[in-house]
Order: sequence, then C-alpha cells, then structure tokens
Amino acid sequence: MSGSKARLQAIENVKEHRSPEAFFSTDETPGEVFGQNVFTKAVMQKRLPKPVFKSVMATIERSKALDPAVADIVASAMKDWALEKGATHYAHVFYPLTGLTAEKHDSFFEPGDDGASIAEFAGKTLTQGEPDASSFPNGGLRATFEARGYTGWDVTSPAYILENPNGNTLCIPTVFVSMTGEALDHKTPLLRSQQAMAAQAERVLKLFGHAKPEAVVSFAGAEQEYFLIDRSFVFSRPDLLNSGRTLFGAAPPKGQEFDDHYFGAIPDRVLAFMLDCERELFKLGIPAKTRHNEVAPGQFEIAPMFERSNVAADHQQLLMVTLKKVANKHGMECLFHEKPFAGINGSGKHVNFSLGNASEGNLLLPGDTPHENAQFLVFCAAVIRGVHKYGGLLRCSVASATNDHRLGANEAPPAIISIFLGDQLADVFDQVAKGGATSSKEKGTIIIGADTLPVLPTDPGDRNRTSPMAFTGNRFEFRAPGSLQSIAGPMVTINTMLAEALDHIATEIETSMADGADFDVAVQKVLEAIITDHGAVVFNGDGYSEDWQVEAEARGLLNLRTTLDALPQLVTPEALELFSRYGVFSEREMHSRYEIAMEQYALSIGVEARSTLEMASTMVLPAALRYQTELATNLASLKALDVEVDTSDLDGVSASIQALRGGIAALKGALGHDGADSVEAEATHAGLELLPAMAAVRVAADELESLVADDLWPLPTYQEMLFIL
Ligand code: ADP
Ligand code: MG
Repeated sequence: MSGSKARLQAIENVKEHRSPEAFFSTDETPGEVFGQNVFTKAVMQKRLPKPVFKSVMATIERSKALDPAVADIVASAMKDWALEKGATHYAHVFYPLTGLTAEKHDSFFEPGDDGASIAEFAGKTLTQGEPDASSFPNGGLRATFEARGYTGWDVTSPAYILENPNGNTLCIPTVFVSMTGEALDHKTPLLRSQQAMAAQAERVLKLFGHAKPEAVVSFAGAEQEYFLIDRSFVFSRPDLLNSGRTLFGAAPPKGQEFDDHYFGAIPDRVLAFMLDCERELFKLGIPAKTRHNEVAPGQFEIAPMFERSNVAADHQQLLMVTLKKVANKHGMECLFHEKPFAGINGSGKHVNFSLGNASEGNLLLPGDTPHENAQFLVFCAAVIRGVHKYGGLLRCSVASATNDHRLGANEAPPAIISIFLGDQLADVFDQVAKGGATSSKEKGTIIIGADTLPVLPTDPGDRNRTSPMAFTGNRFEFRAPGSLQSIAGPMVTINTMLAEALDHIATEIETSMADGADFDVAVQKVLEAIITDHGAVVFNGDGYSEDWQVEAEARGLLNLRTTLDALPQLVTPEALELFSRYGVFSEREMHSRYEIAMEQYALSIGVEARSTLEMASTMVLPAALRYQTELATNLASLKALDVEVDTSDLDGVSASIQALRGGIAALKGALGHDGADSVEAEATHAGLELLPAMAAVRVAADELESLVADDLWPLPTYQEMLFIL
C-alpha cells in the first residue's frame, strides 16, 4: 500500500470502529469492585493469625523491620489468595530509571517428586528477588560483571493481581538495588526520603507538645493529563510509534482557540473508555475520582484520590499502564508525552502534596485554634524554605527532554520555581516578617505569639494557574511535573527539602528555648527569620509574564530553561551534601542519577532525530517529488497546447523540496558525528545540534504539507488525528 493509501485507509478504519462489548451491569455495586484484586489490610486481617497481622501492620505503619518468620506466613497466605484468584505466576514489580515499570515473572509451580506440580512461595521469594540488572540504566554503579540486582518487597505498597484473559499474575511492588545496596530505581529513594522527613517532622511535633505523634508520611495526589487518538493513525505515524510525539505536522485550520473542548461533554467513545479504565483501576484499588476534558482537542485528565506518596507513585505507574492497555482495547492510543502536538497545549501531571499522620491529621491544614495555626505556619514555612533553597533541585526533578517542550511555553509554569501562597496567607507571612502577625486580612484581630494566631480560612481563596508551586488550602500543588514522568522523583526532592527545613526549624526552636526563650517567642523568631531569608521565593503574580522573568532574576531565583541547564544542579556540593546528610542518596548515587538523566536525554532526542531523518527521507520527500513531477508534467502538457502557464506552484514546491533536502543533509551530518566521549558531551550535542537540525527539517516538511496534493500526502494530519475519534 502506498503511503497515502495507508493514510486514507486509516480514516476508513476509524469510521468502521466498533466499541468492545460492554461489561456494565447495574447489579454490580462499585463497592464490590473496589480493591477486588488487592491483597488489602482487610484481606490480611482475615487470613493472617492475629500476631502476624499485627507485626505486618507495625511494618506498614511504623517502618518496623519485617520478621522473616512473619514473611513466611504472609507469603503462604498471599499465595493461597492469589491461587484462588486464578494466578499462576508472581512478579516482582519495580521502577527502574527508564521511568517505566519493569516486571520479572516466575511461576508458582514447581515439579514435585511424583511428577505432579506443587505451588511454592516462601517468605524469601516474597521479600527478595534477583532480576538481571544489566539492561537497566545504572549510571556507572555497577560493572557489567556484577550484573545482579536485587528487588525487595515494599511492605507498605499492597500486592495485587494483574489480570489477562489468558491468566493472572500476583504482582509485588518492590525496590530495586544493586548488589552493593545502591538504588537503581525510583522507589528506594522515595522510601528513604519519606523516613528522613518523618524523623524531622516528629521532632517539630514533639516541640508542639505532641508527646507521641504517629509516624508522619507525605501524601501525593497526581492529576494525569493525556491525549487519546484513534489507533489507526498511529500505525501510519512512525514518530508516534517511536517517540510518542509528532515530529511533523502543520497546524490545523481549527485548533483549541474556541475553548470548546475544555470541560465539554465527554464523547461517548471516550466515556466508554474512561468507565472501562475506572473499573480496572478500582479493581486494583486505585481510587480514580475525577475525569474531564482538558483544554486541547483530544486531551483529557484523570485524578485519583491522594494516597501515601510511595503508594500513590506505584498507583500512578499502574494507572498509566492501565490507561494504555484499555485505550488499545477501545481502538485508541493513549499519549502521555508532554507535547504530542506542536502548537497545541501539552500535558502535565500536577502533583498535589501534603504531610500528616494519624494523630494530628493533615499538617498543612489551617486549624481551629491559634496553637494549631502556629503549627500550620511552621509546616508552611518549611515548604517556603525548601522551595527557596532547593528550587534548582525541584527544577531537576521535572527535567526531561520531553518536558522541555512544555515548561515555560505559556501553558505550563515557567522554569523559574516560585511559590504562590494566596493573598491571605501571604498577608499573614508579611506580618510575621514585620515582627508578629497582629491582624488577618479577613478577620481583623490576630496577634502572634503562637497562642494567639489568627483563625486562618480553610477556603483556598483565589487560584493561580501560572505558579509552579501553589498553596491550595490544605496542600501544595506542584505543577511543573510532566505527564510522562514518575511522581517519585518530585516527591523525593520534596520530602528531602522538607526534612532539611524541619530539621532547621526544630534546631532553631530548641536553641532559642535552651537560651531561655518562651516557646511562642521561639516559634515567632524562626518564622520571622524564614520569611525574611526565603520570602523572595513567594510570588503571587502572573508567572507567564515577561516581567516575572526580569523580576525573578533580580530576586536571585534560578531560571533553568532546559534540561541541559538544570541537570548540573544535581551534583553541586549543596545537593550532594543535602541528600547524603539525610540518607537519601550517597554521592555516588547522585552522580549516577546525573549520568542517567543526561543519558536518557541524549537517547530520547537521538531516537527522535533518527525518526525525523527516516520519515523526511522516505515519506515526505517522495510525496513531494511525486507532486513536483505531477506539476511539471501538467505544465509541459499545457505548454504543448500553447496555453499560457503559471509556474508559481511548481516553483514553490521546488523551493521547499530544496529546503527539505538541505535540512535532511544537515541532520544526517549532525547524526553522523563521532561518538562523544562523555554523557554530557552526548547530551549537549543532542540539545544544541540535533534539536535545531530536526526543527529545520520540520519547517520545510510542514510547508510542503500545505502545498502537496492531499491524496499524495502520507502522514495523517493534525486535523485528522485530533478531531476524528
Ligand atoms: P484541581 O482543582 O487542581 O484540578 P483535582 O480535583 O483535579 O483538583 O485534583 C486534586 C488532587 O489533589 C486529587 O488527586 C486529590 O486527591 C489531591 N488532594 C486533595 N487533598 C490532598 C491532600 N491533602 N494532600 C495531597 N493531595 C491532595
Ligand atoms: Mg486539575
């Protein structure tokens, strides 16, 4: 089939699409479905002897080490449960630094002496696995001869059954480390950072008079944006297949300018997909809550309820896998790339976070009493200090080749990391800075001294969509993360910066009090110092404006526009010191993360560059040449008939063909450069040479799209992909 026929066939296929069979039954209550495939606490309580259950709970709630004898009993109960659910295999699921989810499957069954098979699953098999680590990025942490990696059960993240029409698998969420115990994944540092933050938060809570606070954890709720397009189009778009974004495509006559898609009625086919997804997510215990259309045509959002951040991170990964799978079932492709279509809004993944525990609740929620509010302000101040001191690291936590297309593009926050507090809270902090809050904007009377703080409103007040980090009433919303990335990276940075800030605050209060200061005065003093030293990071204005770029620079805030600008922040002496002080990353691990991030950046642009070259040479150029011949033949026949001819069409096409050829040659040259001798050099080459060379090819190709006869054009157009569903 010629290229253009494939494209036309794709449109025919869409027209003929039939939805998969419906499963909906009014007999089934959502409550029955929720968590149906999860080895929940309730299941454990039912199936485990009481002391064993208690011991597991102590591990989950209070990070007590898991007793090996207990592990054997849990494994046996888990195996029985999984077999009843039809599982034949188990898999340790881990989260390597490719950003994807990895699984190693093993069968439960082993041949017994009598030739029959027996199901085996010991505690050790549950808690530890040994996948070959050699094909996962490790940034120099492992020589090839020590290819072994270890997976270890994360007891706090529940095991679940993954269904497939041909058999089920018990999945066990795990960490993934090298033989020497170094982190090769996203989960290990998340658990470590969680623990570091908890220890410091506990110190602060004790100073506030909570003698025995429950363990503090961070919570995360991610809002996932994505695009859906008919799958038929993807098969004729190597760029979407290879890199998840279009490398070519002229702007459609109608884009998103009417805002007619945002929060509009969800198309039936999409709604069927969403309902199907939600049911699958519910089975897996993932609390999918809101769904709606997003700004761009074909763009949607799903936001599960917030959970403990390491569970939220696992669920987020599982959610992406599920959305992709269910989309395929419905004949669609789910695109998580941050910028699948140039000129159309990209996708982000806002990460809402808070911290809290069972005894004190949400620590970022203003309370009813002045005392609670003093505590609330202290935790807010910790966020302010963290974001100011470690803005560069937060920027790094969202840095990727794909997210570079979105950040700062007037649809997502700029690369400058600042914090939005809202008028009311900003006002309180202003007064704190002046030596004690005495009035709140709304209420009138407040006097600091922790005992007499204002009654703060729980209403988030106004919204600011342009800030990368916004207070929204009971949590902060980090808006810079990209739709494709794991939320673990941002949460590691957030937990760690909070550990440092809470450590600082606790120490300051302790020191003041040791010097004889009264508790209220000590709190006032540390709050005042924080807002004075770190208030520069608070910005309530328009983050998209040009003025902010100038002002932010005057305030000394970093503006790290690209991944290449950002990544060196990972290996500054301050960063290395921070992460090693709190036991989150050793220096070696930080260097490895840096190397891996650089490598991933170079690799992903490399794939795009090769796809660009291939598509330009084998799809776009041939179509243009055919059309050029057609025009030339036409002109020749007209001339033969002595008809006056206009050569401007042919001239235009010929000029664009020449530009395309020039672009192809330059890109080929850039791709053919001799291997760089370091990952930095490779990444720099990708960012500074390959990207511009690809862009030049695209300009010429997109120009040709507007010239070449439609029946010759091989690539599904933006109009087709975005509006035919
Ligand atoms: P928005 O108004 O920002 O679009 P959504 O309802 O789409 O809000 O998503 C908000 C997300 O924030 C959800 O995932 C929600 O569960 C989460 N969230 C709510 N409260 C908290 C909290 N205290 N801590 C962390 N996340 C929270
Ligand atoms: Mg939202």
